[in-house]
Amino acid sequence: MDIDLSVVIPVYNEETNIKILIPQVKSVLDKIKKTYEIILVDDGSSDGTFKTLKKLAEQDPNIKLIRFRRNFGQTAALSAGFDLARGKVVIPMDGDLQNDPEDIPRLLEKMEEGYDVVSGWRENRKDRFLTRKLPSYLANKLISITTRVHLHDYGCTLKAYKKEILDGIQLYGEMHRFIPALASWMGVRVAEIKVNHRPREHGNSKYGLSRTIKVLLDLINVKFLLSYSTKPLHLFGSIGLFFMVCSLFLLIVSLSFKFTYHTLLSNNSTFLLSIIFFLVGIILICMGLLGEIMVRMYYESQHKPIYVIAEKVNFE
Ligand code: UDP
Ligand code: MG
Repeated sequence: MDIDLSVVIPVYNEETNIKILIPQVKSVLDKIKKTYEIILVDDGSSDGTFKTLKKLAEQDPNIKLIRFRRNFGQTAALSAGFDLARGKVVIPMDGDLQNDPEDIPRLLEKMEEGYDVVSGWRENRKDRFLTRKLPSYLANKLISITTRVHLHDYGCTLKAYKKEILDGIQLYGEMHRFIPALASWMGVRVAEIKVNHRPREHGNSKYGLSRTIKVLLDLINVKFLLSYSTKPLHLFGSIGLFFMVCSLFLLIVSLSFKFTYHTLLSNNSTFLLSIIFFLVGIILICMGLLGEIMVRMYYESQHKPIYVIAEKVNFE
């Protein structure tokens, strides 16, 4: 029995916020006349969050709860919610009242135009400028250029996904902000709409400036996975070959020095550099080859497809 909509909300010590948020979400969802569930994931809260959630769930069978044994992080909480969601469309949102449930109908409307992912853009973000808005502005620009999925606000939790898109994605680390980028290999249609953002009134933000560094490292990871996960030798091998060519060039230079000026090769730093470049080249090519073996293990052992078919015609 499928339902139309799953709203997934990760919560970590949001006792006060959740009491205000759930009635807001329900009143919006009741208005749009779709079958829905609200999945709340308590990410190991140490305050009264779970008790509050339990009380809410007792009054309403559409509210479903998952409680983690300890704090596993927002990505893990979202992932647990996605795994158990039964809605055809899944909408994650923050549990701290910063996202506005009134935006949910607008996300759905946009999705009905034929998109697989509709991303929220907090144009008027209500967070600190120096530690949050500025780093996030730069990170968004960089992610947009690198992944070629052009959005203004990857970090906004409020987005709408077709369920089948999420089924094809496994999340690790802090990767939930990269779902649209990770999904792009399947050829998804992504749209963006502006959403409301409210300042945090109760409780504390769980993140600081250090998240920016993690996001940058995740970006390298995602870029690699998107562009080279089935062909690591192309990346490592081309850099390796570049080093080999440099090495050969430096070798020629040092030999010509030897024969024109009769300098000793052992005293020649160009010759030393040539040897170093040669070794680096060999190591990189070997890494690429190792990568190729691992890719085969990854895809073949798990029967992971390297393509996604949109449609088949005249096949049984
Ligand atoms: N959150 C979570 N686990 C964590 C950290 C955060 O479930 O380890 C939840 C948190 O309760 C909130 C959402 O993720 O509902 C966003 O967190 P926060 O508001 O701290 O992030 P910010 O809005 O400052 O980026
Ligand atoms: Mg927040």
